[in-house]
Amino acid sequence: MEELLKSLDSDLVLIEAVVGEETIELHAKRETDEETCPYCGATSKSVHSVYRKTISDLPIQEKMVKIILHKRLFFCRNTDCSRALFSETLSFVDRYGRRTNRLTKKIKEIAMNMSARSAKKVVNEGISNISDDTILRILKKTTDHS
Ligand SMILES: [Zn+2]
Repeated sequence: MEELLKSLDSDLVLIEAVVGEETIELHAKRETDEETCPYCGATSKSVHSVYRKTISDLPIQEKMVKIILHKRLFFCRNTDCSRALFSETLSFVDRYGRRTNRLTKKIKEIAMNMSARSAKKVVNEGISNISDDTILRILKKTTDHS
C-alpha cells in the first residue's frame, strides 16, 4: 500500500491502513524536514498544527480508496511575507480538490464516452462516490483547457 502512496508523492509515508468491506482508508503523512511557503518562497521547519484532509484515489481490488492525509500547517518566518501560516503543497491533487489527479483523469476517461447519468453509475460502482454535477464539472474543466 505504501508503494501506491509513493507513486503519488515519494515523500508520502503510510501511517495506517484500515481495510473495510467496501473501502480502504490510508492514513498518510508527508515526511519532509522543511516546506516552502507558496506565497514568498521562504522555507520553514516550524509546524503550527496538523489537520486531516480526505482525498479519494483510484480503487484497489474493487474497494474505494480514501487517503486520510495528516497535512501540516507551517509558520512562515519571513517577516516580509503577507502570510503567517501556509499548508504544505501537494503535487497530486488540486489545491482545494478532494480527488487525486489520477482519479479525476480516470473519471474523465469514463465520462467522455457516455452520458453523465451512465458515467455516474459506472463510477459509483466501485470507483468513487460522486454526483452527476461533479462529473459535469470534471468534463467542463477538460473543455476549458482545450
Ligand atoms: Zn511566506
